[in-house]
Amino acid sequence: MNLKELYQEIILDHGKNPRNLKSINDYNKDAKGHNPLCGDKVHIYLKLNNNMKIEDISFEGSGCAISMASASIMTELFKGKEKKDVKEIVNDFLNMIKEKSELSTNILNDDEKTKLMCLSGVKQYPMRVKCATLSWHTLTSAMNNDKEDVNTENVKI
Ligand code: ZN
Repeated sequence: MNLKELYQEIILDHGKNPRNLKSINDYNKDAKGHNPLCGDKVHIYLKLNNNMKIEDISFEGSGCAISMASASIMTELFKGKEKKDVKEIVNDFLNMIKEKSELSTNILNDDEKTKLMCLSGVKQYPMRVKCATLSWHTLTSAMNNDKEDVNTENVKI
């Protein structure tokens, strides 16, 4: 199996069986996002504990396989991560999806990087980039306590 096939397999798996697809009862941050071009919708919930760690994170939503796989992979990745690291990881991911060929953060281990690199193929398809980044923009919105819902037509990338 080559790398491309491995990436496709992981995306298919997460798209078909999304992890953390549920709401959290005692969440303290959340945000909604919408990608009107494709019809993807996502609602991110997270529970930040007193140590500023993401104790739990989940999502609800519907959309194409890429948007669901990306939300699934993202929520799995951020569980247990510290609040201060979120911005760096999100920016690294967005830069990778946009133009860079690799992730450069050293907060993530190799397994975590491999999972994110699965989504690198969307780079060639501008429409799909919005599907892959929707949940990431929505996570940022939740962390910032933004009042307005995310609309991928209004964010850069
Ligand atoms: Zn989509």
